[in-house]
Amino acid sequence: MSLHEVFIGFGSNLGDRCALINQALLALSRLPTTSLEKLSSLYETAPVGYLEQDSFLNGVVLVKGSLKASDLLERLLEIESSLGRVRKERWGPRTIDLDILFYGDAIIDAPDLHVPHPELFKRIFVLEPLHEIAPEWLHPCFGGTISELLCKHQSNNPDEVPCRIVAAPPEVALKEVNDGIFYRYGQS
Ligand code: ADP
Ligand code: MG
Repeated sequence: MSLHEVFIGFGSNLGDRCALINQALLALSRLPTTSLEKLSSLYETAPVGYLEQDSFLNGVVLVKGSLKASDLLERLLEIESSLGRVRKERWGPRTIDLDILFYGDAIIDAPDLHVPHPELFKRIFVLEPLHEIAPEWLHPCFGGTISELLCKHQSNNPDEVPCRIVAAPPEVALKEVNDGIFYRYGQS
């Protein structure tokens, strides 16, 4: 049974965003063979695309597990639905969004799954939390590290408003988070 290191990006901009993220992380930690290894801070960003909606909270978690990528995607979609996500407009408001950013160094190009996530290098709210927990991680297609991708993104987008950290991850080891509270909003 081989274990994969998988980075999952999460975001919420509808309802009690912090509570939804905590619930999603708890659900992730309970997936078969899966453990949470590293958690970024929680970042707040203005919406992109469809602008008439609340700001987002985003972060990234590194998980280790042996689920196949397609099974993991299925589980993520189940967690999204269980937390009340309804898909309407693309980039519209969502209770929770869970995206596979990297699945080890795999490159996957299936109709319903693209890994590494094709938008990640364009999204500051993904690059910043990724950079916080894995600055040296290599993007298997570009060859560069997350640090390099973030620098490139910043120099191409000098006017972009940076994300704001609004909550720190728990100080205890993630295995010891038994109460399901990973973040306390407003405590950075
Ligand atoms: P976005 O995350 O770009 O805002 P959605 O969450 O609405 O868009 O899109 C979900 C669909 O994207 C899923 O049904 C899934 O099949 C597809 N998808 C493709 N690649 C990935 C990925 N790496 N992680 C999560 N979903 C993905
Ligand atoms: Mg998604």
